Amino acid sequence: MNIGIDAGGTLIKVVCRNRGGLKYHKFPSVQLDYVASWINGFDEAQVCVTGGKAALLKSKMKRSAAEIVEFEATSQGVRYFLADHDFTEDAYLVTNVGTGTSIHHVTDRHQKRIGGTGVGGGTMMGLAQLLTGITDYEQIVRLAAKGARDRIDLKVSHIYEGAEPPIPGDLTASNFGHLLPSASLASLSQEELLAAVIGLVGETVATTSVLAAGQCGVSSVIFIGSSFLRNNLLKEVVIRYTKLRGGNPLFLRNGEYCGAVGASLYE
Ligand code: ADP
Repeated sequence: MNIGIDAGGTLIKVVCRNRGGLKYHKFPSVQLDYVASWINGFDEAQVCVTGGKAALLKSKMKRSAAEIVEFEATSQGVRYFLADHDFTEDAYLVTNVGTGTSIHHVTDRHQKRIGGTGVGGGTMMGLAQLLTGITDYEQIVRLAAKGARDRIDLKVSHIYEGAEPPIPGDLTASNFGHLLPSASLASLSQEELLAAVIGLVGETVATTSVLAAGQCGVSSVIFIGSSFLRNNLLKEVVIRYTKLRGGNPLFLRNGEYCGAVGASLYE
């Protein structure tokens, strides 16, 4: 068996690969010690680790393990998953919305990290906590899905006030820019605040990705990362903004495991 581990800032993703296929496991990164001892129990397996906490995890393991660079592992994993898709383009962008966001230009032969933004899944968690006190990911995405952003975000149409804007009036002119009278602030619901947080993250990662895609001369952007887990609102925002700006957004099933899959393929 081959075990690939992507030890990230928030979550540790583990893929166990054998002839029967892939098995997926996920742990909070704070359980690093537990994961190390669990992996120690797989005597016969070949283990390869990647991700920001790979070295720390390896130092806690009582067995040898290979280590590969996260971006290389991720692009290998993306290629692996794409083989099951009707996708024929030989160059595309991969945007990994993890704790932070990383953007890669991938071709059939190489990958290059071309940039990123600190706005990502960690921003979702941090701003959600600051604004609502909620720290549970599932609760954050569930509540956000019920919220409207109109009272928090300033749209282009708000600025043009009935006049014909030169760009679609529905676009966000300023995330969190719709300043309310202070008396109304208390009336903002957790749902509205969380929807606005996800709007900010989604529009930022989509816009950054499409600009990067233009720079690389590609149109397809493959979005991966655990930030999309059960988070249809983030997906919707990303799809809408990517398409609006001429990009072709794609999501991979189990896409948050690309790094771990790539590591499991290491020979
Ligand atoms: P990393 O490799 O940096 O850990 P991930 O791709 O695993 O990144 O994405 C981490 C993000 O996924 C978090 O910032 C959060 O927005 C989201 N997330 C999804 N599920 C959970 C969870 N169970 N606990 C915490 N964050 C989660």
